[in-house]
Amino acid sequence: MSSRRFWVGGNWKMNGSLASNKELLEHFAAATPSGSAEVVIGAPAVYLNQLAQIVPHGWGVAGENCYTQSSGAFTGEVSPEMLKDVGANWVILGHSERRAIFKESDEFVAEKTARALKAGLKVSVCCGELLEEREAGETQKVVDRQLLAVVKALSEEDWENVVIAYEPVWAIGTGKVATPEQAQEVHQAIRQFLAKNVSQAVADNTRIVYGGSVNPKNCVELGQKPDVDGFLVGGASLKPDFVDITKARD
Ligand code: PEP
Repeated sequence: MSSRRFWVGGNWKMNGSLASNKELLEHFAAATPSGSAEVVIGAPAVYLNQLAQIVPHGWGVAGENCYTQSSGAFTGEVSPEMLKDVGANWVILGHSERRAIFKESDEFVAEKTARALKAGLKVSVCCGELLEEREAGETQKVVDRQLLAVVKALSEEDWENVVIAYEPVWAIGTGKVATPEQAQEVHQAIRQFLAKNVSQAVADNTRIVYGGSVNPKNCVELGQKPDVDGFLVGGASLKPDFVDITKARD
């Protein structure tokens, strides 16, 4: 196994309340989560301050989006500095729901990634193909295009604070998880892409995590693959047994 620390992110999407967040996080803390994996919970911006105060010891807190500016006349937006101010140390960017529903382009995602890193946040940047793109044999082309925009916006040092989440869109929230072989194939290709377009060191050290219908039952097998360095988990991160996913590689 590699020296890359296993990384497990929860993405609560637009879910939660002060009361339910507290209950779930108290459960996570009591259920002895992994002592070795890096665990981060992404939640709506309005709850980040609460999360920062009550997540289990050592866990990170992530925004699920941010803008490219620090402050100003951008009604409704949240800056990377504001995420930090309320206790977040991570941000999830380029999620397929942001790309599809809010029409975020590869370049915009890349610009946000660069700005968030500059502000001192760590970034989980998402990529992944639609079902029709996979069926057309275009998976790697799509993922390379999405990541090339990010490569162009970042310096080599920036990659130290980036986790790539490969999330095939057809697997998100559908219950249709990629097979461990499908995930490994794309992750390996992403690592080769990083070696070619950034450096061998960045390819070796960057965590590439899989997202898409991960649950406590399928996580162990997926986590055995050499290029699967963890998970980004949506639906299953809102359930008490998310703690089992943090222990997939323990
Ligand atoms: C996600 O939203 O990033 C995700 C992977 O969702 P789910 O685990 O529910 O498929």
